[in-house]
Amino acid sequence: MSATHLKVLFEQAVPPDRLLLDERTLAAYARDMTEHPPGRPDIVIQLTTFDEAKAVVGIARDNGIPLIPRVAGTNLGGLSLAPRGGAILDLTGWKKIININEVDMIAIIEPGVTFRQLVDVLQHKAPPLTIGIPLSPPHTSIMANCLLDGLGNRSLVHGAMGQWITGLEVILASGQVVRTGAFALSDVPFSRSPLPDLTGLFVSWQGTTGLVSKMAVELKPRLPLRKQVFILTYDRHATYELMRRLARQNLFDDIAGLSWPTGKMLYGVAKPLWKDPDEPEFFTYIDMSGSSEAELQVKETAVCRAIDTLKKEQDAAIEDPLDLRTLCAVAPEFETFAEFPTDLDFLTKTPGGGLSWVGTYGPMSRFDMAADEGIGIMARHGFPPVIVSRPMKGGHFGVLRFIETFNREDAAEVENVRQCNRALTDMVLDHGFIPYKTPAWSVDRLLGRMHPGTHALMRQIHHVLDPTSIMNPGHWRLDVEEPK
Ligand SMILES: Cc1cc2nc3c(=O)[nH]c(=O)nc-3n(C[C@H](O)[C@H](O)[C@H](O)COP(=O)(O)OP(=O)(O)OC[C@H]3O[C@@H](n4cnc5c(N)ncnc54)[C@H](O)[C@@H]3O)c2cc1C
Repeated sequence: MSATHLKVLFEQAVPPDRLLLDERTLAAYARDMTEHPPGRPDIVIQLTTFDEAKAVVGIARDNGIPLIPRVAGTNLGGLSLAPRGGAILDLTGWKKIININEVDMIAIIEPGVTFRQLVDVLQHKAPPLTIGIPLSPPHTSIMANCLLDGLGNRSLVHGAMGQWITGLEVILASGQVVRTGAFALSDVPFSRSPLPDLTGLFVSWQGTTGLVSKMAVELKPRLPLRKQVFILTYDRHATYELMRRLARQNLFDDIAGLSWPTGKMLYGVAKPLWKDPDEPEFFTYIDMSGSSEAELQVKETAVCRAIDTLKKEQDAAIEDPLDLRTLCAVAPEFETFAEFPTDLDFLTKTPGGGLSWVGTYGPMSRFDMAADEGIGIMARHGFPPVIVSRPMKGGHFGVLRFIETFNREDAAEVENVRQCNRALTDMVLDHGFIPYKTPAWSVDRLLGRMHPGTHALMRQIHHVLDPTSIMNPGHWRLDVEEPK
């Protein structure tokens, strides 16, 4: 369809100054930070209201135009590119915080609301409240993170962010609008229980089942005192054992293990491939909060006790915890981890501009094996072993991520990232981990192992919700021939 025709069509729904068709803009939206092949949209539509969104979906349905929702485009799975052309829906300007219900601890927000925006508003609330905040840049979308079932700095206790959603309002491909959770029945969207859990039809589906227009999401109390400690460890297996033991104590807000290259990258080393044997293997940070100094003291003592026990039992090489404030006095670079949301510039602002990962959720019992093998794979491909691991949901599972930075303009390096990610994906699948924010190429590898009934049901559901495949097509293999 010609640019003029697209413009004429969508002008019925959105003012012309928010319909972007110039080559430069389309080229900018065609790429993200990753190694995924570019996908150039035919038009970018900047949406700001529900009425505009509903009208745009109707026009797209009648004309078979793919719709790709996008806020910051930082999902790292190529999920907001337009491999089949169509319209990228830029949702950054559709960003009202509709309601913050302080008593029931729920926020109702529009798609473009960012972590920075909500955290700033919550700062002034009494009683103090917070949302789970990821390590993603501050301008990223809360709704996108929840819909992708991502994780944040409260996922240790409260699980993946999809679980925080209490209700959704969704525009389906047909133009029908639905509400899920208590949102369907009550003016306080307090929970997904006790109705049939239709919210699941839109979580981790990567925008293929509908355009979400409102989300009700849980907020959590923010206790007045906070302490963060860093622990330097010299033994990966002891690090993971410590994380497993601390996770089940139900005392901490967040625990994360960052492998040694992250420390060097914080100091500006772009590609650290060599570790001094005397350097720590992992930096583990623990975030804790409390209502009194005494409560914080109990929590810190629990950390020290766990370290002492592990040292005695396994002769583990682990140092005593360092207060982040003390650490920052000698190493200000670690300030990056002091407040969330934060900008991990050492990952996002590298000279080559490329960033990719294989991010997975999986059993913590297998962190050690998967990390060992992942480090081997990364070394074979010439990448520093950048690993981030965090226990989630009280230690029932955790996130294990292998991260690469690279030069996006160097075709050989891009191909190397592809090969490395494929090898990492096969390896983590062997260990029972499941990639999240799953890129299209990764889905093929998953499907070879997934229960066939599961994917068949996904395809049936998708066919009901989006029979002509206009909603972010090309993902989850929902609209292509049945895999063999
Ligand atoms: C340095 C770095 C660190 C990161 N750390 C974390 C982390 O700690 N935890 C984590 O979970 N993630 C992390 N991420 C990934 C990502 O940044 C987050 O998931 C972020 O919240 C995604 O927001 P976005 O605005 O970039 O979404 P986008 O990439 O713009 O959108 C993602 C996808 O969500 C879907 N979508 C968006 N809006 C809608 C809607 N209204 N209706 C239907 N579908 C929709 C679409 O399929 C879209 O393609 C990190 C990324 C980077 C670069």
